Amino acid sequence: MTINHHPSDETLLRHAAGTLGAGPAVVIAAHLEGCETCRRRVSEFESLGGAILEGMPLEPLRVDALARALERLDLPSLSPRPETIVVRQRHPVGLELPSSLHHCDVGPWRWLGPGFRWSKVSLPGNSDAKVLLLKGRAGLKLPAHGHDGTEFLQVLSGSLFDERGRYYPGDLDEADTDVDHQPVVSSDSECICLVALEGDTRLHSALGRLLWPIVGF
Ligand SMILES: [Zn+2]
Repeated sequence: MTINHHPSDETLLRHAAGTLGAGPAVVIAAHLEGCETCRRRVSEFESLGGAILEGMPLEPLRVDALARALERLDLPSLSPRPETIVVRQRHPVGLELPSSLHHCDVGPWRWLGPGFRWSKVSLPGNSDAKVLLLKGRAGLKLPAHGHDGTEFLQVLSGSLFDERGRYYPGDLDEADTDVDHQPVVSSDSECICLVALEGDTRLHSALGRLLWPIVGF
């Protein structure tokens, strides 16, 4: 299995620095379970962060300081490599979920629309985290939507595509404020994704109006 879509360097840096929100961190951790390329990248950032901290006065570490340091170091960019996604425990939703969700409470599938289901993922101690599983039937066309923050989406099974590419199990899509898209589930099977919205991120347009009253975001 080849993973073609990875988190951005900024997101991996924030994950390494512990500044990523709890919701997105769960999704990134799910990606890291199956992506050795990104695990190595995070290790590089953690080593670099430690080196910077050792040489720094006792001030809060800024993420952009790390990014600037990385630019100077000119680290190699990510290159896709064959990977295997690791899924283990079976949950009530009938799917083996990434280990990063094992401490979470995963609810049953609930109706969201024709051929469209969702399951609430509750993080202990983080009631504000916006994390859910989405399941779409084969061929389902989701409502077009934009974001006022970043949406992190990890494909767990099946596949989907939008104007920017096609996403298979193990792939992670980051969609920020620049992205207006209309994901479509591939016609050969249903698709299940783990999704987190960062902070106060809301989804615009029809999908937002669909999710907000039911899911709360
Ligand atoms: Zn990756």
